[in-house]
Amino acid sequence: MLLLCIESSCDETAAAVVRDGREPLSSVIATQIDVHARYGGVVPEIASRQHLEAISPVIDQALEEAGCRLDDIEGLVVTRGPGLVGALLIGVSVAKALAWSRRLPLIGVHHIEGHILSPLLEREIAFPYLALAVSGGHTHLYRVDGIGRYRILGRTLDDAAGEAFDKVAKLLGLGYPGGAVIDRLASEGDPRAIRFPRPMLNRDNLDFSFSGIKTSVMNHVRSTGALSERQVRDVAAGFQAAVVEVLTAKTLRAAEEENLERIVVAGGVACNSGLRRRFAAESGARGMRVDFPSPALCGDNAAMLGVAGDYYLRNGARASLDLNAVPVWPLDQAAPMMA
Ligand code: ATP
Ligand code: MG
Ligand code: FE
Repeated sequence: MLLLCIESSCDETAAAVVRDGREPLSSVIATQIDVHARYGGVVPEIASRQHLEAISPVIDQALEEAGCRLDDIEGLVVTRGPGLVGALLIGVSVAKALAWSRRLPLIGVHHIEGHILSPLLEREIAFPYLALAVSGGHTHLYRVDGIGRYRILGRTLDDAAGEAFDKVAKLLGLGYPGGAVIDRLASEGDPRAIRFPRPMLNRDNLDFSFSGIKTSVMNHVRSTGALSERQVRDVAAGFQAAVVEVLTAKTLRAAEEENLERIVVAGGVACNSGLRRRFAAESGARGMRVDFPSPALCGDNAAMLGVAGDYYLRNGARASLDLNAVPVWPLDQAAPMMA
């Protein structure tokens, strides 16, 4: 089954053609980062307008790169939420219009469901597995028993890890978004030069907290005054080491508690090279296997929606034309009704 997938939950307009829920024939991503960077973060109103301008050309390009035409498409999959309501509505409206005009089945998928199933586009991973969704808006641990079968085990109580990367980058004057820059600078810095706190590491639960690390970075920067380039690299390295240690330790603990041998780490922060290294180093000794999507599938994309979309449509689930965007939507309520 050939599906056209559409994603517009935040600041990336994306479309993809996915075959049988496993094989992306194309994955086109138009990012708005440059537009929002001027404001130091995503401006919702601007995001909606950018999606509106980008969506048709992005869909055309996805069809072209897949070597197919709209006539070949057998169903539509769209991110229904969570995200910015105005941004989501662009994707949802376009998907509905296409579904109606072409008489095609339509399904709405949860954005985080897309992220945590994305490695299945590259290799088969048997259920159940533990998923760490770590991105700009989420730092959540889920038990994944199958597509549509998710149980939340832990979550951040304040900032998401990606948000912390972005805020720390901002206060170091490194621009927006900050994850990739901090990652690069951290690799040149000394992670032991400054020790930032590891919040919640020793708490007896699977929750996270990242706003405290950000505050201690801020206090450090304020008390030091103007930082040299080397000091900036050391702060980046120390900050990243703290975040990576907490993410790795709690995820491995969750897998142990749930008796799971397979772990998936997905979302924008899964691009982080320190996180990838640490998971690789710590999982083997415990007999666990960790899968990261390749970097192009870590950040926002539409191909990742194809996995759940294909499964739901095959099992008879259909969204009607009154499908609406859901800006706040817990993942454990994501599975659609299946006929
Ligand atoms: P959500 O998926 O929760 O709705 P989102 O879609 O905005 O949020 P993504 O696009 O999945 O988030 O990820 C973006 C985040 O990933 C940003 O916060 C960015 O700084 C972070 N990020 C990207 N690359 C890296 C990296 N190499 N290291 C750390 N963080 C990174
Ligand atoms: Mg984004
Ligand atoms: Fe995302």
